[in-house]
Amino acid sequence: MESNRLELVRYSFEKKALPVEIPEGRTSEYYGELVFDRPKMRKYLKPEVLKALLDCIDNSKPLDRKTADGVARGMKEWALDNHVTHVTHWFQPLTEGTAEKHDALIDYDGEGGVIEQFDGKSLAQQEPDASSFPSGGIRATFEARGYTAWDPTSPVFIQGDTLCIPTVFISYTGEALDYKTPLKKALKAVTDAALPICRLFDPNVNKVFCYLGWEQEYFLVDEALYAARPDLMITGRTLMGHMSSKNQQLDDHYFGAIPARVAAFMRELEVAGHRLGIPLKTRHNEVAPNQFELAPIYGECNLSNDQNQMVMNLMNTIARKHGFVVLLHEKPFEGINGSGKHNNWSLGTDTGIPLLAPGKDAMGNLQFVTFFVNVLAAVQKHNALLKASIASATNAHRLGANEAPPAIVSAFLGRTMTQVLRKLVDLPSGTPVEIAGKEGRGVGLEEIPEIFVDNTDRNRTSPFAFTGNRFEFRAVGSSANCGEAMATLNAAVAQQLTAFKKDLDAELAKGKDLSIALIDTLKPVISSILDVVCFDGNGYTEEWKKEAERRGLDTETNVPKMIRAYLAPEALGMFAETGVFSEKEILARCDVKWETYCKKVQIESRVMARMAANHIVPTAIEYKTRLLKELSLSKEVFGRLEGCDTERNLVMEMSALIEEIRTRVDAMHKARKAANGIEDDYGRALAYHGIAESLNALRKPIDRLEEIVDNRLWPLPKYRELLFIS
Ligand code: ADP
Ligand code: MG
Repeated sequence: MESNRLELVRYSFEKKALPVEIPEGRTSEYYGELVFDRPKMRKYLKPEVLKALLDCIDNSKPLDRKTADGVARGMKEWALDNHVTHVTHWFQPLTEGTAEKHDALIDYDGEGGVIEQFDGKSLAQQEPDASSFPSGGIRATFEARGYTAWDPTSPVFIQGDTLCIPTVFISYTGEALDYKTPLKKALKAVTDAALPICRLFDPNVNKVFCYLGWEQEYFLVDEALYAARPDLMITGRTLMGHMSSKNQQLDDHYFGAIPARVAAFMRELEVAGHRLGIPLKTRHNEVAPNQFELAPIYGECNLSNDQNQMVMNLMNTIARKHGFVVLLHEKPFEGINGSGKHNNWSLGTDTGIPLLAPGKDAMGNLQFVTFFVNVLAAVQKHNALLKASIASATNAHRLGANEAPPAIVSAFLGRTMTQVLRKLVDLPSGTPVEIAGKEGRGVGLEEIPEIFVDNTDRNRTSPFAFTGNRFEFRAVGSSANCGEAMATLNAAVAQQLTAFKKDLDAELAKGKDLSIALIDTLKPVISSILDVVCFDGNGYTEEWKKEAERRGLDTETNVPKMIRAYLAPEALGMFAETGVFSEKEILARCDVKWETYCKKVQIESRVMARMAANHIVPTAIEYKTRLLKELSLSKEVFGRLEGCDTERNLVMEMSALIEEIRTRVDAMHKARKAANGIEDDYGRALAYHGIAESLNALRKPIDRLEEIVDNRLWPLPKYRELLFIS
């Protein structure tokens, strides 16, 4: 397959778009047909079971075994009506992607046959052999049991012939082994911490919700070309490849017309998502060639994250039907933009009030400013930790590489909000203040600008940006599970809100009016965030790096070192206070992160060495031999070598490049051996960080060879082919 690259290219180029099968009727008619949602619960569950289940979902009331049996019975009937034969717990271990273990929905009937069977116990809990999932040593190998436990707040869904039950995944001793468990704990912490503050403004608020709207970026490449690139297949990115003459410099891809084959894939993906109740909304071309984006309407954070995982799975399978492979890696190609997953995040009350958007009146605005400032304070305090939550071997290629995000977590406020905050800090103490509402009512004693946030006020270089009614955490990687970043952000905000409420209570106890107490408590916080975390300038410049360091923001770009932020006393303390992670869990997670980092770099290093040996060096030698033959023929015929300078120079350059490749591969091999001898996970990860850097150096002679070797001989699909065929 590899030797006839040009044939593969022609074959890929000639592929046409596939017809897409679309269910009959409008989207709203098939939307959610594969989820056991409330209408289906009403249809399939007995009234008392339904009531208990909804009480569990909405009010966190525990579910007894009898109710679980009732729920299982209803789910089974619904599943059988939809030709389902199997059931699985569906969970999110600390690997990429989700895990499932299918069981047929049958049991002996006692008379020599079988019946369809599914009960509350199988719904509520399974015990998969967990020893093959990363645990960072929490679960010694002799105790291979892990538990998956049903998460009733995320609806059960059907995938093919299988009923999928979203679950958490924990160890025998109760530690989280997944992304969902800490996320759920952090969501509880943040919504519980926000509630008493909201109640000061409106006693009718009973619950606070956290929302997530993710924007999934990805690349598509033709599967035939992909299969001819061992690096893409095994590591998800190209480890070599000369830049195409044309990349993204003409800015002609972003929001451009979607190619027909891609449009067919997107359409089918959307239909599949809609049938699963995933509110997919936006699709468009991204900045880089063959790069695209997909985003749903935002929803409750835990559910929205599950849906992102479901969509990532769907993307992989549906792309293959259309002859594509989806690349979710953060940086599949050097020299052009990589992929991220902006996490649009906000809080809102059960009374329908968004907490991170300007309010309807002066008090509403004060509530908004209160939450706004506290979020920024949390981001400031835990900026290093937030960066750690998105750090990985794959996202490392975006961090600090002059594309969103820079490796410094600062926040973009925009002009309006910066002005509002500046005015607030400058107010003399005890001044009653009213911040004008949208209608411009009630301007207070001091002139404060009316809050009308223009959400076109954008700064693409900021990793944490306010965009009118939400914050966008942009540093999250395209291949990541949002759960890690969302758990960290929510936990940090929870801690800050709790501390703020305590300070506020102290001010209120002095007999101050609510708005004065609020402003007095907010003022020192505002001063601090304006001085430190808030930055509206260009995050890619050298001056900002220096300035950020001066401000005390974390500027580390080395991923293994970034991960250490989890172990800092303020992080351990914050996670303990909010109940999101125990120290044992943090230690285990860090080990998993470092181990994963090492393994990823190790695999890349091996693949690159083998490709150098099996693809690159032989091709270079073949071309070199051809030139040498020509030179020797020339000498034979003309008796001299004059007029053959091009050939001679090429031969010499190639010899030098081949030699450089060999030396670098040998050195890398030695470095790997040395790294593997290091016991301690952190130390080993640091050593592998060095190896990761040496991959870039090894790439250079290879890419130069691609530039000079005869195009017909080159075995690997080139960037210009991978990126421009769709
Ligand atoms: P852009 O590219 O301009 O950032 P997109 O439309 O691609 O915008 O995606 C924005 C995402 O933010 C969508 O998922 C949208 O539903 C989500 N979003 C909008 N408002 C909120 C909010 N208040 N809280 C959380 N997410 C939100
Ligand atoms: Mg966005």
